[in-house]
Amino acid sequence: MSNENYIHDEDDDIDGYVKIDRYNPDLIASLSTHYKEVLKQIGEKPEREGLLKTPERVAKAMLYLTQGYDLDAKEILNSAMFKEDYSQMVIVKDIEVYSMCEHHMLPFFGKAHVAYIPNGHVVGLSKIPRVVDVFARRLQVQERLTNEIRDCIQDTLNPWGVGIVIECRHLCMSMRGVQKQNSVTTTSAFTGEFLKEKTRTEFLNLISAKLG
Ligand SMILES: [Zn+2]
Repeated sequence: MSNENYIHDEDDDIDGYVKIDRYNPDLIASLSTHYKEVLKQIGEKPEREGLLKTPERVAKAMLYLTQGYDLDAKEILNSAMFKEDYSQMVIVKDIEVYSMCEHHMLPFFGKAHVAYIPNGHVVGLSKIPRVVDVFARRLQVQERLTNEIRDCIQDTLNPWGVGIVIECRHLCMSMRGVQKQNSVTTTSAFTGEFLKEKTRTEFLNLISAKLG
């Protein structure tokens, strides 16, 4: 199978997106109509072969990239909370982040590092990246994304503190405007114990340390 055929295989598209409830045919049809119009207005010919299915694909991709609107991050955490005496810092680092800036609807992506100090409850570790995804899969600014993850964990787990650091490259900066190709934006947000310099420094040292 050539690469070209592979790209044009409609079933393949559907496979990748099958889990999303918002995939109702009416919504896809409506969005596709608008994207077809966008293609025309930027000077393209939507009827040429390579673009025939593009409006529909873009519609599906956009719904995939914004699926966070339909998900409840607190529910995800509540579903996997356990009583546990452990009260040292728990860190999940290098969580992949893919989001879109709300100003240009262009991707920003990078890594999130999330820490909390349990106060009687811990959460299944796999849920932390899911919480990051819920807030990242919608139109965002990196600052708000950082705060929303912090607040969600603080409100749900009620830990002694939460620390979040997110480092991302923004394509709206790299591809247009100032064209700062390699600049990385870092944001952070803290609660409780992490407002103390000693705890925050420990967290920042641990996320910058390399394993082995
Ligand atoms: Zn932007």
